[in-house]
Amino acid sequence: MQKYNVDQKGFYGEFGGAYIPEILYDNVEELKKNYLQFLESPDFKKEYYDLLKDYVGRPSPLYLAKRLSKKYGCKIYLKREDLNHTGAHKINNTIGQILLAKKMGKTRIIAETGAGQHGVATATVCALMNMECIVYMGATDVERQRLNVEKMHMLGATVVPVESGNKTLKDATNEAIRDWCSNPSNTYYIIGSTVGPHPYPDMVARLQSVISEEIKKQLLEKEGREAPDYLIACIGGGSNAAGTIYHYLDDEKVNIILAEAAGKGVNSGESAATIHLGKLGIVHGSKTLLMQTDDGQIQEPYSISAGLDYPGIGPMHSHLATVGRLEVLAVTDEEAMKAAFELTRMEGIIPAIESAHALGVLEQKKFKPEDIVVLCLSGRGDKDMETYVSYREKN
Ligand SMILES: *Cc1c(COP(=O)(O)O)cnc(C)c1O
Repeated sequence: MQKYNVDQKGFYGEFGGAYIPEILYDNVEELKKNYLQFLESPDFKKEYYDLLKDYVGRPSPLYLAKRLSKKYGCKIYLKREDLNHTGAHKINNTIGQILLAKKMGKTRIIAETGAGQHGVATATVCALMNMECIVYMGATDVERQRLNVEKMHMLGATVVPVESGNKTLKDATNEAIRDWCSNPSNTYYIIGSTVGPHPYPDMVARLQSVISEEIKKQLLEKEGREAPDYLIACIGGGSNAAGTIYHYLDDEKVNIILAEAAGKGVNSGESAATIHLGKLGIVHGSKTLLMQTDDGQIQEPYSISAGLDYPGIGPMHSHLATVGRLEVLAVTDEEAMKAAFELTRMEGIIPAIESAHALGVLEQKKFKPEDIVVLCLSGRGDKDMETYVSYREKN
């Protein structure tokens, strides 16, 4: 990747950078100096790829969804991140970052989580590496994602419910940053998406890029070509999308469609459609598109999906959307729920509600019969069963 890559100063066009409190300066500098060399080192690569293979179960399959393909009149492949250990793509990133934390001599790990998938993935690698783990989670999310909270407890993590703001992902991230400021020397902050100060967005994108690395090989095997016509993914902070598109960005023939959460409608006042609604601002250490009021206060986001309920978006995605490399569609709660039940009934796969937003794109877009579409199924729906059950009872 050349043209769309992060620059020396940590910017993607006008987005990115590292806007951090002074107390974290040394930590972020240390990361910035070391991450590329570390990620490229043969020792890291061996340990990372071995764990991805034997612990996570990679490569994740690329599955031709025949009934779905027939319905939407094209060839739809699902990249099955839902089959990973712990149930989503998040583990690709936490394995990489825990190895870096160990290398840097850190003993205490903190993380933020929304739906709890990143919290579970972090608690999992902390158990694996025998590290202390503290996960910050909005109190609203603790309520709606109980199964994942129980898993984190069982894995030995401390889960701290956050009572500020609307008690979701943004608020959890604020608390994690506050903790990091209080414990800068022994603590490593594993950020769960392509957000935060440079070098996190680039580091997380690289760790997730194994997704597109595999798609290329798998598509070549199945279709005789590496590139699909369309790539589709959902975006919360942007990590599964970044992984899905990473190795295709410079190939302009590949159309990229990302789905953000429209909640009850983009203009309903209850949405998390950051790229549609956001303006340039700074949140959690980076300059990016941000949902904000006229006087620059962060607007509380809303989505049925805890993993997409965030007022910002990665700086890489802000840039790609601004320069027109991506098409961004907004998918409502209702459309996502319909798509989730459709996939379940047609293919026997219960998706995470986040991933169901990507599936919602299929209704909005027209494809040609010869089009090859690869859609990232970022996670499985176990954690969302309570939400699915109450939706079905109401409908
Ligand atoms: C966390 C999560 C997301 C959203 O995060 P991204 O960083 O945008 O990928 C999407 N799908 C699932 C299943 C998740 O757990």
